[in-house]
Amino acid sequence: MALALALAFSATANESEYFYESISNHSALESGQGVIIDPWSTEIDVTYYNVDGLAVMEGDIILGDFNEIKERDKGARANVILTVSKLWPLNTMVYQFDANIDSRSRAHFISAMDNMKNTTFVNFVERTTANQSQYKNYVYVTSNTTRCSSQLGMVGGKQTLNLAYNCGVATATHEIAHALGIGHEHTRSDRDSHINVYLSNVQSGFEHNFNKSGSDFAPYSAYDFNSIMHYHSYAFAKDQSSPTMLRNNGGQIGFNSVLSQGDIEGINSLYPDNTCTAGATETRTLRCQSGQITCETGQERRQCTSDGIWGEWEIVNSPICINFGQHCP
Ligand SMILES: [Zn+2]
Repeated sequence: MALALALAFSATANESEYFYESISNHSALESGQGVIIDPWSTEIDVTYYNVDGLAVMEGDIILGDFNEIKERDKGARANVILTVSKLWPLNTMVYQFDANIDSRSRAHFISAMDNMKNTTFVNFVERTTANQSQYKNYVYVTSNTTRCSSQLGMVGGKQTLNLAYNCGVATATHEIAHALGIGHEHTRSDRDSHINVYLSNVQSGFEHNFNKSGSDFAPYSAYDFNSIMHYHSYAFAKDQSSPTMLRNNGGQIGFNSVLSQGDIEGINSLYPDNTCTAGATETRTLRCQSGQITCETGQERRQCTSDGIWGEWEIVNSPICINFGQHCP
């Protein structure tokens, strides 16, 4: 799958570059190191920075409150687990708008969400005062920020997705993809086989945005130059007329404004169609049971009898484990 992703902050260069232009002296920011666990239970070494009180890695991935993360970090242990991300159960990302979100940011989020719904099997549910007791894990979408940023995967409880006034639909799509658990394309461990990075043209203090991940976020398919999770060729450039990244053949990268085919395939492999087809009988397994059971029409989940954990349908022989077991409500 092409879980590759790039900030095609692109549709308009101004919109796309907005979030990092506001970080003028990144090298002076307090930082820390540690390990995060991605939705595939892979440990990834990361460096994070204090950006407006948040611990942020790779420019726009929020780990959490900086002081809380730093407390876990303790400064001396490089292998401490900072965050643990999961996939959203039942393919459903829950979101809540900040009551004061501006109408433009709200519209960008809704457009991005609609595009995601139309091209993938991901669903969205809005958390409201009427249903909030039902949804404890949710993405809080706010425009009270100068950033475009998001946490990675479902982290539990309230998590933040920042969508400043100028973020744009493409960047909203990118940030939603982060919230689904998808990392950046240009930090893949194999990226040097596909692109050249020109660190000499990267603004001082921003070089870490071009670090390769200690581990990959996911099993990858072909390198995807069109991924919406790929930063564009002039990201973090000192001289905006010179690139910071190009394809090995010299071509530009990262100016796609919608999900690429690779992005769609990647998201669908993480969040496959998990409902039974009407009239069909499919054999699937529950993650929390060793045996197989038959998926009956209309069923989406069953309770495992052994441990009281809710299990969810998982396609037999699929290499991707969908949805971690959830404790009974
Ligand atoms: Zn990003």
